[in-house]
Amino acid sequence: MYPLKHFIACIVLFVIMFPIYKFWALVVFVSGFLIDFDHYLWYIFRFKSFDLMKCYRFCACKKNVVKNMLHIFHTAEAWILIGMVGAIFYKEFEFVIFPFLFSLLVHLIMDFIYGLTHIKVHERALSFFEWMNKRKSRRYV
Ligand SMILES: [Zn+2]
Repeated sequence: MYPLKHFIACIVLFVIMFPIYKFWALVVFVSGFLIDFDHYLWYIFRFKSFDLMKCYRFCACKKNVVKNMLHIFHTAEAWILIGMVGAIFYKEFEFVIFPFLFSLLVHLIMDFIYGLTHIKVHERALSFFEWMNKRKSRRYV
């Protein structure tokens, strides 16, 4: 999904959450927008290039279909880890954790809907172990 749509969703979430969380609501941009930084990490490892614009163009081009991409912050293991850390520190950091997790959830739902409507759901590994398994079996490299 294009970053602009995630950014707009974050602005909406920020406006809704600002009366309750004040400037802590800015954390929605971390989990709702900056989480897609893992696309750039994937691009760096795959193409050995730090060129952000090339990465953007590659990811935005619908002709580029890469199977078994690992976007580490979009895996089930990352969500479980984030959820566990959130549950452990919820009492002390409730003012940050709720906006963070809610924005993450909105981001993932938007990505999932985009994947379903654009038949791209199988490009990204949903689990780190799934990615490792496919990579090991050489079905997708
Ligand atoms: Zn995403």
